[in-house]
Amino acid sequence: AAKGAGRDRVHVFSPGLREAARWRLEVANRLRDGAVDEFVVHYQPVVRVDTGEIEGVEALLRWQHPERGLLTPDAFLSVAEETGQLIPITRWLLGETTRQAAAWAEQGLPLRMSVNISARHFSAETLVHDVRVALHDSGLAPESLVLELTETSVAEDPTRAEDQLAVLQSSGVTVAIDDFGTGWSSLAQLLALPIGTLKIDRSLLTAAARLAAHGTGPVLAAIVSLARTLGIRSVAEGVETPAHLQMVRDAGCDLAQGYLLAQPMPASDVLRWASRVRAAGG
Ligand code: C2E
Ligand code: CA
Ligand code: CA
Ligand code: CA
Repeated sequence: AAKGAGRDRVHVFSPGLREAARWRLEVANRLRDGAVDEFVVHYQPVVRVDTGEIEGVEALLRWQHPERGLLTPDAFLSVAEETGQLIPITRWLLGETTRQAAAWAEQGLPLRMSVNISARHFSAETLVHDVRVALHDSGLAPESLVLELTETSVAEDPTRAEDQLAVLQSSGVTVAIDDFGTGWSSLAQLLALPIGTLKIDRSLLTAAARLAAHGTGPVLAAIVSLARTLGIRSVAEGVETPAHLQMVRDAGCDLAQGYLLAQPMPASDVLRWASRVRAAGG
């Protein structure tokens, strides 16, 4: 509450905002002091819609905070991005995930490994180098690595994005457009870029269901088939219910990801999860 003037003028901040500001400062300090050691990676299976078999995984960053427990990216990602720490963290993550994928391949489970790349890293000179180093050190085949870029990070500067994407593609990795449907970029423009995969955001699943209910027709199927015509695979994200899965199947989507299928999990659980699904017959 306001206590007159002077130094108490912080009253314009709600306690929630003050708490948030304190948290951001704490995160920034810990990142600077080497909290990189406390990061872990969880992996969420991406499955084939037709068989239910695992095709790949998406690497999702977690922070094993000594006092606060396991934190998801909403608690720290924007701070890491602002302080410039996200690029070094991602460099570490690329090393970790390519090693993991190479190990799984050796154990008889070749999986595509998807890694999220921030807009800032995408526009940085170092990305291509960082990717090459990770592939070289791990021995992972470039075809097994997928870099996920959001629609907005490629839409910002399409001409530059196209060049950068072409360079990445020439190194053999696949680029996926993430969160498709959350921005306002044109599908035609996105699909003209050198990309291999389109990840359809959960919000588009719900919107498609609504539109279908109004007789607007198979929106999702149109997107998926346009992508396929151009040799681009589609992944439906955020599949939470059997109805979602049915819709995704009807639309002809190749791959799906979501809580209905599997939660993100530590690396040690992935082999077991994959073999359980196989044993169950998909
Ligand atoms: P994203 O790339 O869209 O990743 C999918 C997010 O949706 C993950 O949240 C995942 O746990 C969650 N999810 C999966 N299935 C479902 C579902 O069925 N329903 C719902 N509601 N959510 C589902 P998470 O791990 O909290 O990550 C949030 C976002 O943080 C990611 O969204 C991505 O944008 C970012 N992120 C995560 N890891 C990294 C990273 O290593 N680098 C960068 N730059 N960003 C990352
Ligand atoms: Ca992603
Ligand atoms: Ca996404
Ligand atoms: Ca998302």
